[in-house]
Amino acid sequence: METAQLIDGKAVAANLRKEIAEQVKTRLEKGLPAPGLAVVLIGEDPASRVYVGSKVKACEEVGFISRSYRMAVETTQGDLLSLIDDLNADPEIHGILVQLPLPKHIEVQSVIERIDPAKDVDGFHPYNLGRLAGKAPTLRPCTPYGCMRLLKAYGIDPMGKNAVIIGASNIVGRPVALELLMERATVTVCHSKTKDLQAELARADIVVAAVGIPKFIKGEWLKPGAVVLDVGINRLDTGKLAGDVDFDTAKERAAAITPVPGGVGPMTIACLLQNTLEACEAMEAA
Ligand code: NAP
Repeated sequence: METAQLIDGKAVAANLRKEIAEQVKTRLEKGLPAPGLAVVLIGEDPASRVYVGSKVKACEEVGFISRSYRMAVETTQGDLLSLIDDLNADPEIHGILVQLPLPKHIEVQSVIERIDPAKDVDGFHPYNLGRLAGKAPTLRPCTPYGCMRLLKAYGIDPMGKNAVIIGASNIVGRPVALELLMERATVTVCHSKTKDLQAELARADIVVAAVGIPKFIKGEWLKPGAVVLDVGINRLDTGKLAGDVDFDTAKERAAAITPVPGGVGPMTIACLLQNTLEACEAMEAA
């Protein structure tokens, strides 16, 4: 078997960001405002700080208005909800993102549900998830949306394929299942209680790995010729990043695979920008 084709998320994301920057330029030439994104970070979690920094930088590069709110770890739920209320009412802001995870004293679902669904560029609000479940998506969760855009960019049509997702989280596993189902794949969602993961994987034409355990999925578990989207981002003791798939063995068996880094990760941020642009345009059309 030949080595798998590399699915280059970095390149696909760069193209999408370029298209978005061009659309912003056209908007400004027409006298329309730039899309505005507010990013809220509570506390000092190092990984969250890096993610927020990348999101703010990406916004600025495409010409968006970007505002960041860095709040102390002691911030109360009431203070956070009142900031969200202000941002919901702010005409310059089209997208609101509250970086997860939140400190334990803040109830995440209340925060997600307080964001105006029209500004919910993370796509986590029950309204947006419900729209996706009903095959009429509005704002779509960024990482799953990024996975679908990668498949499309490489001409991989999920219709009729067996798609096996490892991981059932609200932010990746579940919404990516809805995305793949909408494209008429036959979808199986596995999680920590799945009885025979290897048997599920052996039938998988498309694998989405979102477990959070480095190199968990071995190449020999894959069906030869599978397409593998590795969502995992895990920091090894060496300081290097690794996905949830054992890339070296998987690439010998898969037809196509995303690397980590440079696969799904860059698509998440590009899709956040895409969602913010879409939110801005939808608000104008309303
Ligand atoms: P999560 O909330 O921790 O969910 C992990 C899922 O994996 C759960 O559904 C869990 O099952 C399942 N699981 C755990 N151990 C398992 C096992 N032994 N066998 C089968 N399933 C197992 O994780 P997440 O937020 O979805 O993130 C997953 C990974 O993706 C992480 O590495 C994260 O850093 C990365 N990530 C990347 C991006 C990106 O932009 N590329 C975005 C988000 C997340 P239960 O439901 O039974 O607990």
